[in-house]
Amino acid sequence: MTMTSGARCPACLKPAPKQALENHFDRIGQKPYEVLRCPHCGVVFSEPQAAVGAEWYQKAAPIRDREMHPAPERDWRYRTFLRRNLPPGRILDVGCGDGGFLLLSEKNGFRGTGFDYDSRMIELARRAGLADVEAAEFERFCAKRRPGEFDFITLFDVLEHTPKPHWFLASLKNLLKPGGYVAITLPNGQRPLLFGREEHDYPPHHFTRWTPATLSRFLENLDFQVIYVHASRLKLSYLSDNAFFYFFQKVLPWAKRRLLGLGPEKSQKTITEIMLCSSQEMPGWFLRLIGDKLARQTWVNRAKGVFKVLFLPGAAGLWLFYKLRGRQCGDCLFVLARRRPPGHSRKDI
Ligand SMILES: [Zn+2]
Repeated sequence: MTMTSGARCPACLKPAPKQALENHFDRIGQKPYEVLRCPHCGVVFSEPQAAVGAEWYQKAAPIRDREMHPAPERDWRYRTFLRRNLPPGRILDVGCGDGGFLLLSEKNGFRGTGFDYDSRMIELARRAGLADVEAAEFERFCAKRRPGEFDFITLFDVLEHTPKPHWFLASLKNLLKPGGYVAITLPNGQRPLLFGREEHDYPPHHFTRWTPATLSRFLENLDFQVIYVHASRLKLSYLSDNAFFYFFQKVLPWAKRRLLGLGPEKSQKTITEIMLCSSQEMPGWFLRLIGDKLARQTWVNRAKGVFKVLFLPGAAGLWLFYKLRGRQCGDCLFVLARRRPPGHSRKDI
């Protein structure tokens, strides 16, 4: 498959390459995608770049990502931001979810504003005591705000979900004071993927993939000064989760063929698809056993816990290998950048 002519890189806006790195089919939305690497800026992106609605996310993720994150005080992304000891001011958290970060930042002297497309999350944020949060789509939110209103804008695991990242960040920059800061976290494109890429790193879940170098270049091109780039420490649990999904996806089709007598076309399933299985695809007794979507997630989590114990020696060996190589290659990347004040060229700051 080749690209439709005229497509552009969503990060640097230069012409996209003709040849795809990978082809991907989203079985939830029944849509094909191409994954490409921009020859100009190095960002990996997918085509087409079109956001999916809340309905797709509800199908794909029975439990929202927040379940996967620790308490705000222990969240590496938030701690890394607060450790920079920046002078408190007005902060906008894009995709604020249930407001965990905003509450923490207010305890540290910031004044928080947030929005999220998911109204249920905003309801939780309000109940937790946040006043300036709303359920809104990105464009409608931006249109209502004053230029230069915020001292800080935070994007915790948001940018990679966003089609058209250039346009997205340029719109947000307008809401930031000259000299104001943007903090971005996203999956580190330099993390080890020994056992394959995670299911959620494909479109339409993630539209772009970034490394410290490509993210820094992207910000510099939008006239930000990159101040701090930092990758999280590599964790044992990351390595065992990466291995778990590989083995899970190998063992499961085998089990379904052998134990459930399903044909090969029905046995090639990702974990997300197993969550969505219906009685047309699976025997009724099996569906009763694995329960509803929430119960299925619990089964997967239990299996992951058992696997973690069994794989501990393997994960420890790999962890030591990467540690000795001395590279910072944890799964999360944090970048802090500053909007250049007017009249300051790149050399001035
Ligand atoms: Zn590019």
